[in-house]
Amino acid sequence: MKPYTPGEQPPPGKFIKLNTNENPYPPPAAVVDAIRSAATGPLNRYPDPVATSFRRAAAEALGLPGPEWILAGNGSDEILTLLVRGFVGEGERLRLPYPSYILYRTLADIQGAAWEQTPFVDDWKLPAAFGQSADDLKLVLLPNPNSPSGTIVSPEQITEIASTLTCPLVVDEAYADFAQQNCIDLVQSCDNILITRTLSKSYGLAGIRFGFLIAKPEVIAELGKIKDSYNCDAISIAAATAAMHSQDWLADVVTKMNLTRERLTAELAELGFRVTPSHANFVWCQHPSGRHAEIYEYLKRNQILIRYMDFPDWGDGLRISIGTDEQIDACLLMISRAIQSFA
Ligand SMILES: *Cc1c(COP(=O)(O)O)cnc(C)c1O
Repeated sequence: MKPYTPGEQPPPGKFIKLNTNENPYPPPAAVVDAIRSAATGPLNRYPDPVATSFRRAAAEALGLPGPEWILAGNGSDEILTLLVRGFVGEGERLRLPYPSYILYRTLADIQGAAWEQTPFVDDWKLPAAFGQSADDLKLVLLPNPNSPSGTIVSPEQITEIASTLTCPLVVDEAYADFAQQNCIDLVQSCDNILITRTLSKSYGLAGIRFGFLIAKPEVIAELGKIKDSYNCDAISIAAATAAMHSQDWLADVVTKMNLTRERLTAELAELGFRVTPSHANFVWCQHPSGRHAEIYEYLKRNQILIRYMDFPDWGDGLRISIGTDEQIDACLLMISRAIQSFA
């Protein structure tokens, strides 16, 4: 099978890293304190197999009826693995939009399942065909906001799509903290809508590996049967619990990063880029020269890492994660030099 290739992860310090949508800011101090205190706790003992402290804190922070609506995982990638393992059997099929998160295809491959892609139309709109059912279609996955575009599909349209599907619709909300809308309320009102979240992006905890599923308690209970008994370790559970108690920190960091995003968007447009308006912590942009790979290489030679992405039968472009204002200034300077070097 073809492997999934994650973004480059060079040793720390060498690059300004704007390629994998991590948070440029360190996590809340309360999280670091919680990790320290967990490290002096009973590490000789197994952790809580169902991360109760985290699920309580998350249910409260998100306004859910209770912890039984949440399943904790070793990153939302593990949650996605459990969803595919649980819902899509060998020879069955899952659906994803295109271009979007390529990992879903790998998860289908591992399962011996098939995948199909529905292309976005008219600048990242989702066609009604995305909600078409079929007997062997067992799971539909939708990143919202989408990557690499940062665009969103409205909760109204998601409700409509779910209503025409006879299988679960997973809304992957890895970036929802950066958007004005999300689908949390739909989990209670629509039988087949499930949501995945991660602490890797908005909470600045990519190094900790923690994500979760929000779904009806019956679904959480069933999927809990197929996870590893101790899928989350004591240190990450402590960190994630403290993170969920840090909602003020989250609101501040999101406000700051969204301001940087708007500035990056405007300045890239100044430089002649076509920039897709983003609701996430990255922007997707294309230059009329089409020389995206060269711009990426130029920046890499100058210790700035962004993501060059080429989608077969669709096109290529650059995805730039939101860094600190200083990092974004350095990135913009090098991009303008790269473009000048073409002239
Ligand atoms: C980053 C990302 C994830 C993975 O998050 P982890 O919790 O770090 O595994 C899932 N879905 C999308 C769309 C992402 O971009």
